[in-house]
Amino acid sequence: MTGKNGKLFVVATPIGNLQDLSPRAREVLESVALIAAEDTRHSRKLLAHYAINTKMVAYHDHNEREQTPKLLRRLQAGESIALISDAGTPLINDPGFRLLNAAHVAGIQVVPVPGPSAVIAALSVAGIAPDRFVFEGFLPAKSEARRRHLQALSAEHRTMVFFESSHRIGASLQDMAAVLGKDRLALLARELTKNFETVRRAPLDELASWVMSDADQRKGEFVIVIAGADAASPPGPSMAADTVLETLLDYLPTKTAVDAAARITGGKKNALYERALTLKKNEGTST
Ligand code: SAM
Repeated sequence: MTGKNGKLFVVATPIGNLQDLSPRAREVLESVALIAAEDTRHSRKLLAHYAINTKMVAYHDHNEREQTPKLLRRLQAGESIALISDAGTPLINDPGFRLLNAAHVAGIQVVPVPGPSAVIAALSVAGIAPDRFVFEGFLPAKSEARRRHLQALSAEHRTMVFFESSHRIGASLQDMAAVLGKDRLALLARELTKNFETVRRAPLDELASWVMSDADQRKGEFVIVIAGADAASPPGPSMAADTVLETLLDYLPTKTAVDAAARITGGKKNALYERALTLKKNEGTST
């Protein structure tokens, strides 16, 4: 690191409530030569609210390759830069990885300015063992891939944290209940720090039914926190049956698959038949 380099500040911004910008974050945003923002139009509202006039430049997934060397040159010329995203902590499912990597390689001092993140905000109110957790980000958009991903997590003993969008919140909760177990304890955190903030903790199937029966509960931004396998009731035969059924449905007509699944798993035919219809419907509607 040389004395004339500027610093790269990674600044957390509010996830909804503008009052959540820390005084230190404000000071840094006022004092740097440049703010690299995921979406300059979006961040202009935050800067206007605090009367911050610092110049902004766009830094997002589609221009990071060209922008990184330009920002690096400015840092090496002694200018300090603040990186912000649309909401919360940069790099947590947000752009910045390439820039941070380049800054480290170039010996630029990087400085975190911590603050809001939807992950930690949801975890902090979940009342679900927070001492060890895994952040899983967004699940795959297609139902089949999503269920496969969840299946791989079914024995995870740490608390799991997921992001989800309004388009898929219902389908994802249904898949989570089907694969991880309907009784698995979870928390749905919607629109945190905003007007319609909703926090509800319940078993997965209850959360799924609630969201499916009320369109208002499918609006906005979501974090889902799910108890680890050891913390909840053990997955048991329903999870195994689901996996067996899903595999058989790939090769056999529905009724034959259900009969075979019932013999293999000892599950009830009626329940397996209903589950088969849901799986087929999800497959048809998944995007
Ligand atoms: N970097 C951000 C952070 O630290 O919170 C996360 C950015 S990620 C692209 C956006 C996702 O975060 C949303 O789709 C949603 O799942 C979650 N999220 C962001 N703000 C939220 C809020 N106010 N309430 C609930 N979830 C939120």
